[in-house]
Amino acid sequence: MTGRHSSVIDTGKTSPSDRSERVAVAEDLLATRLAQSVLLGQVPGVTHGITGRVAGLGEADGNVGFSAPRDAADAWAMRRLWCQAAGLDADALATVGQVHGAEVVRADSSDAGRGARPGSGRVGIGDALITDQPGILLMTLHADCLPVLLVDPDRPAVAAVHAGWRGTVGGVVGATVRAMGSAFGSQPERILAFLGPGVGPCCYEVGPEVVDAWTGRGVIAGTDPRRAIASTGTGSTFDLTAANGLLLREAGLAEEHIDVHPDCTRCRGDRWFSHRGQGTGTGRFGAMIAITASGRLGGTP
Ligand SMILES: [Zn+2]
Repeated sequence: MTGRHSSVIDTGKTSPSDRSERVAVAEDLLATRLAQSVLLGQVPGVTHGITGRVAGLGEADGNVGFSAPRDAADAWAMRRLWCQAAGLDADALATVGQVHGAEVVRADSSDAGRGARPGSGRVGIGDALITDQPGILLMTLHADCLPVLLVDPDRPAVAAVHAGWRGTVGGVVGATVRAMGSAFGSQPERILAFLGPGVGPCCYEVGPEVVDAWTGRGVIAGTDPRRAIASTGTGSTFDLTAANGLLLREAGLAEEHIDVHPDCTRCRGDRWFSHRGQGTGTGRFGAMIAITASGRLGGTP
């Protein structure tokens, strides 16, 4: 424990074997591994981050998903560690039962903690969470499916979205933008979006049912939907990022308000959990966002 982490260790306190110091080193490392958008980061009073896969961290490389075969107690410990690294309160986490649909669930500060610890339930069933309240930390869970974080800087209001091919074709991101409009008065042209890491077109071969369902939507935002489909000779690939970008444009977002993470989760399996790359038993990474404007997350306005 010398050298590379000297900026953390040279704080003049205790020995390097002290537990709090080891946690500090882990937080320091994880803070650099959280994926964050420069665009969303410019909004005062909103904090976001996407956790990743870190070899040797905890029992399952930093996994934050509770489902078997993963150990829920370890996943909760990892949630706490990632949240500390982001300056967020893990006990304020709220999750939904994700079903690859387009249902949007509105949450408020009284929902904080529903889905945080193992056995703490969930806010509801759906693939998007929205709120305009501080004191609650929205999180969706991923292993290839695209995370989408949204911010209305005016209210402010935030959203976390889980978009695999079914949710994408079902229009979950557009449904979320509309839900923010009716619930919070959010103007689509003011909303900022961060499309996080998901399985890329390089690794996402899909069947004709996906191509048909997607292209069956017709022209999207003045664009041929086939722009998100490519032929491999033997089949087709689907570009979740391109598809959700088009759907956000259709919902009224400005092109310059859409930020994109470049990683394919399967190609970069060293950094991300990937269902296609690592199998069904792999872990999950979390896409988190909260309004922290009122000060310390966990307080009520
Ligand atoms: Zn790839």
